Amino acid sequence: MRFFSYIGAIAVALSLSACADESSTTTAVSADAVALQAHLEFLASDDLEGRDTGSRGHEIAAKYIATEFKRLGLEPAGDDGTYFQRIKFRRSFLEENSASFTLNTGDDEISLDYPKEFITGPSAYSEKDDVEAPLVFVGYGLVSETFGINDYEGLDVEGKIVVMVSGRPEDLPSEEGAHLNSSKTKFAAERGAVGIINLHTPAREKVRPFEVSIMYQRAPSVRWLHPNGEPNVAYKNIAASAYVQHEAAEKLFVNAPVALEEIFAQLEAGESPKGFDLGVTARLQRASRHEEISSPNVAAVLPGSDDKLKNEYVLYTAHSDHIGMTKDLSQEDHINNGAMDNASGVSVMLETARMFKESGKQPKRSIMFLSITAEERGLLGADYFAHHPTVPLSQIVANVNLDMPVLLYDFADVIAFGSTHSTLGDTVTQAAGQFGIELSEDPMPEQAIFTRSDHYPFVKKGVPAVFLMTGFTSKTEGEDGGEVWGKFFAEHYHRPSDQPDLPINYEAGVTFTNINFAIGQEIANQVERPRWLPESFFSQLD
Ligand SMILES: [Zn+2]
Repeated sequence: MRFFSYIGAIAVALSLSACADESSTTTAVSADAVALQAHLEFLASDDLEGRDTGSRGHEIAAKYIATEFKRLGLEPAGDDGTYFQRIKFRRSFLEENSASFTLNTGDDEISLDYPKEFITGPSAYSEKDDVEAPLVFVGYGLVSETFGINDYEGLDVEGKIVVMVSGRPEDLPSEEGAHLNSSKTKFAAERGAVGIINLHTPAREKVRPFEVSIMYQRAPSVRWLHPNGEPNVAYKNIAASAYVQHEAAEKLFVNAPVALEEIFAQLEAGESPKGFDLGVTARLQRASRHEEISSPNVAAVLPGSDDKLKNEYVLYTAHSDHIGMTKDLSQEDHINNGAMDNASGVSVMLETARMFKESGKQPKRSIMFLSITAEERGLLGADYFAHHPTVPLSQIVANVNLDMPVLLYDFADVIAFGSTHSTLGDTVTQAAGQFGIELSEDPMPEQAIFTRSDHYPFVKKGVPAVFLMTGFTSKTEGEDGGEVWGKFFAEHYHRPSDQPDLPINYEAGVTFTNINFAIGQEIANQVERPRWLPESFFSQLD
C-alpha cells in the first residue's frame, strides 16, 4: 500500500510540475493498518456498550484515548494539567401530561390535543413554564442581509409568541440555508419574542410525517452547563415552544387576514409568505424535570518547534461518544457499537498523533488532538470546547474533523466539506493528490453536512475547518464506492450492526489517515495560517 502512495505522489509531481517543490512535504511515515484495527476493535467492542455520553462505557473509551496520548508523550491539554476536560450536562425531561396549549380567539377558547395536534420539548432552564401572549405569524422566521431576507420587517413581536413555518426557502444554498435555519430562535429572541410555534407543513408531512416527530419527542434534551452551573441556554426569554400539526394549525388562523391554505399554497409555489398579526392569543404550559450527568472531552498537544508559531494550533477532532444501547427489545443485539461512527475516526486520530510524534520532523505549529463527547446529542462537547477552550480560540488556526469515515472500500476520491469556504480546499487537494486520491464535489449538498459535525461550533467561532468523507468511487474494479457507502448508511448507520465484524478495509483506513496527516502537516508548516475565502458566507458570521 505504501508503494501505491509513492507511485501516486510521483504521478502527481510529474503532472503538476508547478507544484513540484510542494510535494516535498511527503514524508516516509505512514499509518499502520494493524494499529487502526486494534484501536477500532477496542473502542467498538461490546464491553464499551455503545459509548453513550455519561455512561461507563464512554468513560472507559475516554480513558483509553488519554492513555494513548500519554504513551505517545503528548502533553495534557485538558483541565488542571490532565488530559480530561470534564463537562457537566443537564438532561431535561418533559413531565407526563404537563403540556397544554389553549387558544383564545376572542369568541372562543380552543384547546389543542397533545400529542396529536402539537408536541413540545422540555425546558432546560426552568421547571415550570406558563406563557400567555398574542400570536404573530412571521413566515419562515428568517433574517439575512446577505440574501436580502427579513421576515420580521414591519412586525412587532416584543412580548409575543411568533408562529413560523418549518424549513426554509428552496432557493437558498444548502449550507447557508441550514445555518440560517438553525438561527431561527436567535432571530426571534433578539426581537423580544417570548415563545416560538413551528408549523408542520403538508410538504414536510410527505418527507417526515408528524407521527414520526411524536415518536421521537420522548427523548430527553441535553444541554451543557457552564462551570458556574448555568445551563447553556442562550435565549432565556423564549419560555414556550410548540410544534403544531399542519391540519391543527388552521385553528391558529381563524382570525388571520390570510388563510393557512393560502400560506401553504405560497410555500408550494416556492414563495416566502409575509407575516401578520394572527389576532389570537395562546397560553402554553409545561413542566420539566432535570438530571445532571458529566462526561469528558480528552485533549493533548504536541508542541510546535517554531518559537512564534508554536503558540498557534492545528486542531484535530474526533467524537468518541456514540448512541449507547438500543431500547428495541425485538432485536437480539442491543449494543450500538459505532465502529464507523466514530471508533474509526478516533482510531484515525490516534494514528495521526503517532505519525506526528514519529515522523522525525516536529511541526512548526503545535498540534492539538481533541476527542469529543456528546456529538450524538447535538455537537455538545465541541460546542462546550468552542465556548471554554483550553487554549485561546484565536490561536486555533484550523480544525480538521474526523467523523465516520466509511472504511469499507478502496475509495479513489474524497469529499472535503468546508473546502469551498477557505484556503483549506487547496491544502486538501494537494494532500490527497500525494496519495493518488482526487477531491470530488459534494454529492449531496442538500444534506448540508458542513453544518452537521463537530467542526461546526468552531466554524461559528470563526475557525476555518475541513472534514473529509470517503468519496463515491473505488480503486477496485467492479466496485461502486457510492453503493457501498449508501448501503452502509441504509443498513448499519446508528444500528447495532455498525460493529467490527463489518468487512472493514484497514488499508483504506491507512490512506485516509495518511491524507489527514498530510493536511495537518501542511497547515502546521505553511507560513500563513488558513483563511476564509472572502466570498464565503461563513467568513462573516458574528
Ligand atoms: Zn452518529
